[in-house]
Amino acid sequence: MIIKQYSPSKYVARMSELIERLSPQHPQYTRISKEIGAIKAGDYGEEVIYKVLEQMKIPYKCYIFHKVFLVAEFAFELDFLIITPYGVVILEVKNIIGELEFSTNPSQLIQRKEDGRITKYPCPANQLNEYKHQLSQFFLQYNISVPIHGVVIFASRNSFVKHSVSGVKIMYRNEMRSYLRHFPENSSTLSQEEMEKIKEVLLRSTYSPPSIPLIEHFSISLKDLKLGVKCESCGFIGMQKIARTWYCPTCKENNSYAHKKAVSTYFSLCKETITNKECREFLLLNNRYEAKRILSSSDLVKYGKGSNTYYTNYSSKNR
Ligand SMILES: [Zn+2]
Repeated sequence: MIIKQYSPSKYVARMSELIERLSPQHPQYTRISKEIGAIKAGDYGEEVIYKVLEQMKIPYKCYIFHKVFLVAEFAFELDFLIITPYGVVILEVKNIIGELEFSTNPSQLIQRKEDGRITKYPCPANQLNEYKHQLSQFFLQYNISVPIHGVVIFASRNSFVKHSVSGVKIMYRNEMRSYLRHFPENSSTLSQEEMEKIKEVLLRSTYSPPSIPLIEHFSISLKDLKLGVKCESCGFIGMQKIARTWYCPTCKENNSYAHKKAVSTYFSLCKETITNKECREFLLLNNRYEAKRILSSSDLVKYGKGSNTYYTNYSSKNR
């Protein structure tokens, strides 16, 4: 039974908002576009595994969670967590193609692509062991004692593990069904109540990590961003405010609500608070009354008075 459904990474949408406002010549551009590519690949791998889980008839009662953020000694994120009568199972999903080699001392995963390019990644076996430890620490806080199993799954058909490591179960996605089907054979048992308790604790504890404004995260200055309201029809940034609507000089479309997305982009990229002046700067508005109208109708929380007025994105404070 799916308890927490698949959802793509929210971070990638925010990163995309950032990169479309950045010049390709900006020193951070390549790094950010690579990061977007890596997150999208990860999302795709998780979606593939999710579909397998969704369609599979697992021969015992189980609760499946996609993306679980928890805090023990530190915050950690599990791709999938499955509660079964035989313990919990962490699925650590990797979507890395090419020839893959686990090396030890120090641990890393070395990817060799067809064209000979080599990339190094943190070792997924190590990651999994760390997650198992963190999860056991997390359960300890709730007096839950449960066997914790885990497996690293390569989601792509184009992954070829040339050299693996011992001590951690590593498999391709076509082995996953058989693994889960035969999983109970050599494990101990949890009662239905214990399974429910773990489910409730996880539902209560999983959270979305707070999102700091991205320009701060990537040390980008506001003046390096392309400012203005984005046209959702053609992607042009810098729509013009006319009478009751926003006009796109590129595709000639009108959109009365185009500022809403721009205000949310501001919070995602720039700062957790916005003043009238900052709103005018970011939306390329020259009318302070217009900016006031926009801010007071944007579902924000208002603080201060007169020239000290500012607004916050209340929802982001509560995440
Ligand atoms: Zn347009």
